[in-house]
Amino acid sequence: MRSFEYVNATNIKTAIALLSEPATEAIAGGTDLLGELKARLRSPRRLVNLKTLAKLREIRYSPQAGLRLGALVTLAEIERHPVIRERFSILAQAAASAATPQLRNMGTIGGNLCQKPRCWYYRNKLFPCWLKGGEKCFAEDGENKYHAILGADRCHAVHPSDLAPALIALDATLRVVGPDLDGEISLEELYTKPTESHRQMTILGPNELIVEIRVPTPKKAARGIYLKAMERQSWSFALVSVAAQLSFEGERIADARLVLGGVAAIPWRAKDSERILIGQKFSEELAERAAEAAVAGAQPLRENAYKVPLAKGLVKRALESLAG
Ligand SMILES: Cc1cc2nc3c(=O)[nH]c(=O)nc-3n(C[C@H](O)[C@H](O)[C@H](O)COP(=O)(O)OP(=O)(O)OC[C@H]3O[C@@H](n4cnc5c(N)ncnc54)[C@H](O)[C@@H]3O)c2cc1C
Ligand code: SF4
Repeated sequence: MRSFEYVNATNIKTAIALLSEPATEAIAGGTDLLGELKARLRSPRRLVNLKTLAKLREIRYSPQAGLRLGALVTLAEIERHPVIRERFSILAQAAASAATPQLRNMGTIGGNLCQKPRCWYYRNKLFPCWLKGGEKCFAEDGENKYHAILGADRCHAVHPSDLAPALIALDATLRVVGPDLDGEISLEELYTKPTESHRQMTILGPNELIVEIRVPTPKKAARGIYLKAMERQSWSFALVSVAAQLSFEGERIADARLVLGGVAAIPWRAKDSERILIGQKFSEELAERAAEAAVAGAQPLRENAYKVPLAKGLVKRALESLAG
């Protein structure tokens, strides 16, 4: 790893000013960034340590304002927090399913939402792939067992975070601060499919920071679940995951949000499935149709066709479990 200067941030404004200088990057828990540095995928001259910003460690909740999570709250704190477990259960489930206890103790929610893809060609310096500015996507004809089945274009990597689908299902927003910016965006807006002119998976600029994650209190009659298919029971990214949040009025589904992980470059909102569910009484046939719609248009690669029935099955199981 190339040597670098390490600066403790004293407040958000100075952190942003430092990040506006060349070859400077933010570090929170370091569980993703340090791996990239060791693999020599990037070589910043300076790291700005966000962990000194105590205000970004706060968890606040009120029924009116909802849940407010500072960007430095760790995955372990989310997993264990009694209010999150009770009222925002998908989020606690997603945090508990991620990585390992050690990584959850270090990893922050801000870093988790901004982590880079896990495509093995991306993580290997010897492959100058398209996402890193090269000409070719090596996964397209190469090893693509873990890659995208939906919406891929030049890059077939999948978005790796477990928390992002859960938070999008909960309709979360972010407070984002930059040199000329202090505003709120929906988490869904943060993610973007990489394009020729923007080979990134988020819209964040290098000197913009997520400061807070805001989650509205779910309606009383809402139920949620996070299901994750993994190769092992722990320390494994999602092959496919599903975050589902349904609210009911009597027997009818009044609102539905379904977000899939592990299938696309962004957390994949299954909007057609949501439309099929809203206003209907639950039945097995309805769940089957919604699950079918979630994978409509899937274009698997040579090694990942298994993700299509897996995603369908997971959506159906999530819906049946919520209706039950
Ligand atoms: C072996 C392994 C297994 C894993 N398994 C899973 C898994 O199953 N599910 C899952 O979801 N994740 C998994 N992860 C990823 C892990 O959860 C993330 O590495 C972690 O959450 C990142 O948080 P961090 O604070 O360590 O981020 P850092 O490594 O410090 O930062 C990551 C990136 O985010 C940027 N960043 C950090 N904070 C902010 C902020 N506030 N605003 C803007 N940018 C910011 C940094 O500049 C950097 O680019 C795994 C990681 C490893 C190493
Ligand atoms: S899938 Fe994306 S990250 Fe992986 S090799 Fe292709 S372009 Fe690179």
